[in-house]
Order: sequence, then C-alpha cells, then structure tokens
Amino acid sequence: MTFPPPASLDPEALRAETPILGREVHGRPLVYLDHAASAQRPRAVIDAMARHYERHHANVHRGAHQLSAEATDAYEAARAAIAAFLGAPEARSLVFVRNATEAINLLARAWGDTHLRPGDEILIPVSEHHANLVPWQMAAERTGARIVPIPLRADHRLDLDAFAERLSGRTKLVAIGHMSNVLGVVHPVAEIAERAHEVGAQVFVDGAQAAPHLPVDVADLGVDAYAVSGHKMMGPTGIGALWVRADLLASLPPFLGGGEMIAKVDMERSTYADIPNRFEAGTPAVAEAVGWHAATDVLREIGMDAVWAHDHALGEAMIARFDAIDGVTTFGPRGADRGGILPFVVDGVHPHDVATALDAEGIAVRSGHHCAQPLMAALGVPSTVRASTHVTTTDAEIEALADAVVRARDFFAPRP
Ligand code: PMP
Repeated sequence: MTFPPPASLDPEALRAETPILGREVHGRPLVYLDHAASAQRPRAVIDAMARHYERHHANVHRGAHQLSAEATDAYEAARAAIAAFLGAPEARSLVFVRNATEAINLLARAWGDTHLRPGDEILIPVSEHHANLVPWQMAAERTGARIVPIPLRADHRLDLDAFAERLSGRTKLVAIGHMSNVLGVVHPVAEIAERAHEVGAQVFVDGAQAAPHLPVDVADLGVDAYAVSGHKMMGPTGIGALWVRADLLASLPPFLGGGEMIAKVDMERSTYADIPNRFEAGTPAVAEAVGWHAATDVLREIGMDAVWAHDHALGEAMIARFDAIDGVTTFGPRGADRGGILPFVVDGVHPHDVATALDAEGIAVRSGHHCAQPLMAALGVPSTVRASTHVTTTDAEIEALADAVVRARDFFAPRP
C-alpha cells in the first residue's frame, strides 16, 4: 500500500453530489461523521438504482425475455466491476451476499465446517468487529477448533511478535480485519498472509472498512478470501460480497440451498452449479448490485490513493485537535497507517451523553462498543464515541465536532 501526499480530492464538489448532506438536523446543517457505520450515497448511485427500476428491472438468469437479459447483464457487469475494484483476478470468484457479515458466515459455514477439525486453531486479533469473531466462534463450537487471540501492543497496533509466536502447524486460519472500525489502523495484511501461508494456514480478511478508504488488491495482498459491504462504500444497503480464491471457492460446498444454485435436481438429491452461482441461492439484490457498481465508479474516478490521503489527513487533524482538548482521551496508533476514524472519551461523561449532545447540534457520530467488546476490554473502557470521515468530510466539520465536544465537556463535566 502506498501513502502518497494529499491528492486533489475536492470534498465540496462531492458534497454537492450527495443530496442527504444538504439537509438540516435539529435546525442545524448536518455534520455527518458516522461514515464507518454507513457512508452516504452520491446522486449517481441513487440515479443508477432508479434508472434500473424504471427501465431494466426483471429477475436475473431466469428469463429469455429482453428485460431479464438486461437485468442479468447489469448484475454480471456489477460483479465484474466490483471484482476489478478489489483486484480480483476473476469475477466468478466474487459471490454477492447481503453484507460483510453474511460473507463471513458463508465462509465460516462452507469452509469452516469442511476444513476445521478438533484442536485446529483460528488466529483472530482482539480488535476485530464481532462480525469477524462470532461466526468463527460458532464454527469452532461446531468443529472442536479453538480461537486464539492476537493481542495489541501498547500503541494499539497488532502485536506481530505475539502473532508469530502463536502461529503454528495447528493454525488453520488467520481471520483479520484490513482496517479496524474503531482504531482506524490498517493492518499489515500482506506480511501477515505471507507468514500464515508458511505454516499452511488460510487467510481471510474482513475488508468492510478498508475497501471504502484505501486501494485494495486481493491478489497483491496474497490473501485467500476477502469480505466487503456495499453500504460502507457509498453503495446501497442489502448487498455485500465475498471474494475467495477461485480454486478454493470451487472446492467448497454450498451454504444455502434453493433456486439458481443447482445444476440438476431430483426428488432425492441435487447437484450444484459452478461458482459463483452455487453460493447465490434465490433472487439476488439486482438493483443494489447496480447501485454498488455506480458507487465503485465514483470511488474509482476519485482515485483510491486520493481517498486514502484525504481520510488519513483528516484522521491526523482530528487527533491533533482532540489531543489538545483537556479532559478528552483518544485511542489508536498515530502514524501513516491510520485512517479517518477517531474513538474518544470525555472523562467523566458517558459516550451516549456526548453523542446526544452532538446530535443536538446536528453532528452525527456513533457511541457504544462499536461491535468490538473484546477491544473495549483491551482498551479498558466500556464504550467510546467514534467520529469517522470519508470523501465528503471537510476540515470545517472536524472543527465543528471539536468545538461541540468542548461544549459537551463543559456542560456535563465543567472544569474547576
Ligand atoms: N467488519 C467491520 C470492520 C465493520 O466495520 C463492519 C460494520 N460496522 C462489519 C464487519 C459488518 O458489516 P455489515 O454490518 O455491513 O455486515
């Protein structure tokens, strides 16, 4: 991954193309700093979906009629575009699912249930989103495998020495997030994959936060599987994808049964379709695929190097501003591997109270454990406030956030 100097991304121009950012909340202009939970859609995405429903909608793969052919072409074009966006060598190894969570459950069922044995180990960082922990816990329960945590260093980066020590012939899988949804740190996935492969382990990467914010190339990373969610990439909700190395995907049994995923069905038994259809039972999210395709076109046009440079610069600006506020504690490493996500607490004030005070000023942030309870335990806090940026975020929004946090601190925990 490269960390180029700030590039020519124009947040104001992108804001003008993102209708929701023009609205007010509680009588104040919306300051949306919850992109890590779900990004906002540019008009191009909304228009692409409307156009699909107005002109092309029908069920895919099933009909001889014109609309079905058009819908199928659009759906498969979206698959090709999203596969290319992720650097996947073959579009057929990208399976559309509902979201990153479903992608991971699919892999935990199809790969986990067939490859994990009692005593096998799955290495997972303590900082993972529950979506990349709970499905593996469930697979471990079904198979007798066990979860081995990778701890954090004092600076909140992954402890790669501990990772190396825990890696062994028993390790069957390393399941790791590409970018933490709480700490904003990008993990050295290529290096981790190389070391994991040396002991014969497979490497799954949860790319839900990375794919919207930095250049991703699954082939360059050398990983075996990668999951993403459309809605975090300015696409629609209800669609995500699981990419798996084609030979590995082709060796896996189906996860869900039904229409579309079969080759031949008798009353007693069925044979299954080739990839990717084997993993796409039932009517897929066609309009959502079209919208997501449009979103990746927008991101591609901006350039993912520029997106990363923008998020990284905003992350640095947030840290610098917040570290200067008395009574505020921030978490996560400082450095070139940190994006635009800032978790913080205001001493003596519940994060929900801070978030509620910010909301009253039209500022949208998240508060809670961010689906990362083991990480909260490692940080020694029950929850935090989290501000997160994307391509439409401006310096003025960061200033507005910081000023509002100072007002919240002074209201709830006045300085002596
Ligand atoms: N992994 C990470 C790192 C995430 O941030 C999220 C969403 N917060 C998910 C997985 C799950 O994504 P989804 O809810 O879209 O399935």
